[in-house]
Amino acid sequence: MTAPVNAELSASLQAARQDYAALLDKKLKLDLTRGKPSAQQVQLANAMLALPGEQYKAADGTDTRNYGGQQGLPELREIFGELLQVPASQLLAQGNSSLELMHDSIVFALMYPLPGGQRRWSNEERIAFICPVPGYDRHFTICERYGIEMIPVPMTADGPDMAEVERLVSTDPGIKGIWCVPKYSNPDGTTYSDETVRRLASMKTAAPDFRIFWDNAYAVHHLTDEEVQVADILTACADAGNPDRAFIYGSTSKITWAGAGVAFFGSSEANVKWLLHCTAARTIGPDKTNHLRHALFLKDADGVREHMRKHRELIQPKFDAVLNIFDQQLKGLATWSRPKGGYFITLNVPDGCAKEIVRKAAEAGIALTPAGSTHPYMDDPQDRVIRIAPTFPSLEDIEVAIAGVATCVRLVGYEKLAS
Ligand code: PLP
Repeated sequence: MTAPVNAELSASLQAARQDYAALLDKKLKLDLTRGKPSAQQVQLANAMLALPGEQYKAADGTDTRNYGGQQGLPELREIFGELLQVPASQLLAQGNSSLELMHDSIVFALMYPLPGGQRRWSNEERIAFICPVPGYDRHFTICERYGIEMIPVPMTADGPDMAEVERLVSTDPGIKGIWCVPKYSNPDGTTYSDETVRRLASMKTAAPDFRIFWDNAYAVHHLTDEEVQVADILTACADAGNPDRAFIYGSTSKITWAGAGVAFFGSSEANVKWLLHCTAARTIGPDKTNHLRHALFLKDADGVREHMRKHRELIQPKFDAVLNIFDQQLKGLATWSRPKGGYFITLNVPDGCAKEIVRKAAEAGIALTPAGSTHPYMDDPQDRVIRIAPTFPSLEDIEVAIAGVATCVRLVGYEKLAS
């Protein structure tokens, strides 16, 4: 970081103080906390409100209004099998939330031994997960809720620091899993390199029932013409002789409707059978009518890709606005990600400043995701990561809010440099 010195620093600090006073006067009330699609984005799928209409029978004649079809509607599994890189026969279409499927996978593993496992996880002395940081707070909440120890491992430009991951999993049989958001990760937009995927698939693990929780939440959520691809983890695991290692998740929450979409689970045949056995005790089948309206609306994998370009048109200007303001105001003081897709920008502020910046922003009426949320136990040891979620507010509100955030970064950052 090239810090301004002496006179320059005190001038910068004074300007930041003035700007912050002006910001307080604006009495804003803006919320940048969660990665939600905007009203215009969910509107893109409004044709689904009228579906399936009288066409309530699936392609194979199944009446979607009745019980059954535990694996989910085949035509929807075909569409998303291609996009999530899972054969449709090994992909389940389920409820409205992939987070729920991740949560349930962990609870089921606590209760029933996994394929390859000797006992259920709750009978182990200790269970730990590797948590690449920065990461997704709700993954961490699941671990915390069920007493699963979290071991942070830093992210690199290629995904988690694989030397560290390999070192940890090869010697510690208590480590049962790793959280991965392989494409346009939450929050820093990183996509795992082919080499990272290969190493994850082939690394030696001390736990025989180790699982990669492959949360491909942003599989088709591109922000540029370069529609980034990630290597096929399921095939990589099978090729490496670890066919049961990956649990793959995805959903249409940020394709059609958040909270009223469809979630998917894909894995090896053995794992799919295991999950179906567990879910059979709690449901007589998923909402196939919702599956059908999604299949009718999206049509095929190209239909999904085309639909996602409409999302891009709506949200790319918001990401550009954030990046432009940061470029103009924060060069030399902070760094930030330039994601090619997904829902977030990570802002790295000077060490020890993130909490204070979020507090100052809140005082000015700008709600940011709490500092620390990107790390297990809310503990960002350097107190430096702030997650920016630009999709939900209007472009105008984003511009006002981010200019305000930049003011807070300058104020707290320069104060720290001057102290
Ligand atoms: N996984 C990641 C990485 C996310 O960022 C989100 C939402 O922000 C989810 C999962 C939630 O997905 P769902 O709505 O399918 O539960």
